[in-house]
Amino acid sequence: MQLQDLHRITNAFKSRSAVSPVLFIGHGNPMNAVWDNDFTRTLTALGKRMEKPSAVLVISAHWETVGTYVSINPAPRTIHDFGGFPNELYAFNYTPAGHPQLAKTLKEVVTVTDVQEDRMMGLDHGAWTILKYIWPAADVPVFEMSMDYTKGPDFHFQLGAQLKELRKKGVLIICSGNIVHNVGMMDWKDIDAKPHDWALDFDAFVKKQIDGRNVDALINYSGASAMLAVPTNEHYLPLIYAMGMIDRNEPIQYIYEGYQFASLSMRCFQIG
Ligand code: ZN
Repeated sequence: MQLQDLHRITNAFKSRSAVSPVLFIGHGNPMNAVWDNDFTRTLTALGKRMEKPSAVLVISAHWETVGTYVSINPAPRTIHDFGGFPNELYAFNYTPAGHPQLAKTLKEVVTVTDVQEDRMMGLDHGAWTILKYIWPAADVPVFEMSMDYTKGPDFHFQLGAQLKELRKKGVLIICSGNIVHNVGMMDWKDIDAKPHDWALDFDAFVKKQIDGRNVDALINYSGASAMLAVPTNEHYLPLIYAMGMIDRNEPIQYIYEGYQFASLSMRCFQIG
């Protein structure tokens, strides 16, 4: 092997490893923040095996706006955006730094819409209930981007594709939602309750389309199972963002598969 070949291979490897992964995390019930179960242990193990990124961008089901916003808050507070949970959940705070500079870079790389700055946004529970396991010391800066609920899935896919640029700048992107999310059909008494048939059906359908990189099918889903699995699409749209961020031939690894309370798919995957 010539020295120049070695350099070429080394540089190819460097540029590949320089692209940060994308995570789709099914976050489920906020109580996962204080529970010890298979799902939370998977998140802890994930943080131990992954390289620390320069920052994390979270796109969460729990920040919906008219227009798209990015948080430039240098010190995002913990938002307890739920009601009726035990005090220990409200007492918990996860307070990493924000990253205003990378948030401004996001505004520059996105051209499908004019991303607005938000100075006050903290971290919603789609972000902190999972990050507290991945980087418990809160030593990785975190900033969020909102989802414009007036826009259709095509828009979210195109916006996701433009965010690929941030992966080259050391930003790990977490898309936080749930593939199957029907709160009305939850079996509140049993976290390990047998999943509903329609939940199993739709989750299997989505996995197949992810494996086939079939974005059209993921955007244009229909049928009885889909209507029950996605009664409103705010938890599903983070998946569409993640699909936009895949580079051709990039591997997708399922890092967690399972259900909670019969009607929440906790499926998680890693891209890259
Ligand atoms: Zn949620």
